[in-house]
Amino acid sequence: MGDLLAVPSPAVPFPAVPSRPHPEVRPVSHPAPPTSRYAGRHRASRRAPLPGRVPSAPLVPGLRASSRLPRATAAAFVLAAAGATVGPSGALGPGSEVQAAPASTALDLSAEQQFAVRSEAAAEAAALTDLAQRRQASAMQTAALQGRVEAKQRAARDAKRKAAAARAKKEAAAKAAAKKAAAAKAAAAKARVKAAREGKRWVRPIARWNITSGYGWRWGKTHDGLDVGASTGTPLYAMSRGTVLKAGYFPSFGNKVEIRYWDGTVSWYAHLSRISVSPGERVMPGEVVGAVGNTGNSFGSHLHLEIHPTGGDNPVNPYPWLKRKGLLG
Ligand SMILES: [Zn+2]
Repeated sequence: MGDLLAVPSPAVPFPAVPSRPHPEVRPVSHPAPPTSRYAGRHRASRRAPLPGRVPSAPLVPGLRASSRLPRATAAAFVLAAAGATVGPSGALGPGSEVQAAPASTALDLSAEQQFAVRSEAAAEAAALTDLAQRRQASAMQTAALQGRVEAKQRAARDAKRKAAAARAKKEAAAKAAAKKAAAAKAAAAKARVKAAREGKRWVRPIARWNITSGYGWRWGKTHDGLDVGASTGTPLYAMSRGTVLKAGYFPSFGNKVEIRYWDGTVSWYAHLSRISVSPGERVMPGEVVGAVGNTGNSFGSHLHLEIHPTGGDNPVNPYPWLKRKGLLG
């Protein structure tokens, strides 16, 4: 080997230059390459034992001396250790740090005991987890119950509020309706007063309706009005406010009174025994204008009543007209 290195190879094209240290490269202090990645670090491979503390050996594989154990597990550990020295039991609590027994009192736990300890720890952890889950579930249940109660109360309050609003609305509507009705009543009364003052109301021409012949075809010709039987001298009234058009004797009609009312309707009263008004005279509703008689073409004391809605000589059936005016019945 050394010979191979000492003899220059003929393949090298340039003569070997005597080696000298590179000015920027310091000589390496370690002659041999490091055997470990950590060899260059000044780090103790093991921590030095604390003064006054005896280094402990693991009692159970996987269980270090400073492992945190729950109380029950600690107690079990103490029992299983059978004679191991542990801190005062009163100082133990959940999460207490249990100092394992010193190496001098190392315990020789059987596999069964180790299994028991591990099982106990697992059971304890499971119990704690279960308890926490139960508590959480209980809290959630309580919250849900409270939420339901609050929702119920809220719904009740809302219903109450809505009912009150509906009641108020109903009352307001009733009040408005009552007000409207009162207004309508007042308006009607006012209209009645005004109509009475203006004479626009309608009254019967005769006190008692005793219709003996209707409107239509009679005795071979058209009967243009109603015949109302009444004794001679029975008063006849103007049906509304109007003006007397004619008042006098006419062939076949006998004594006749024509009145034009405020709405344009003209009424004819015929066969009168007496006439109380003159042409051009203004009359008011219910004013006496004459009396029932048997003058003209008449066979018996009666009122012959004709209605001409548009004036002129165009009579209509008086019956429906009287009904519309509310003068029948
Ligand atoms: Zn007649």
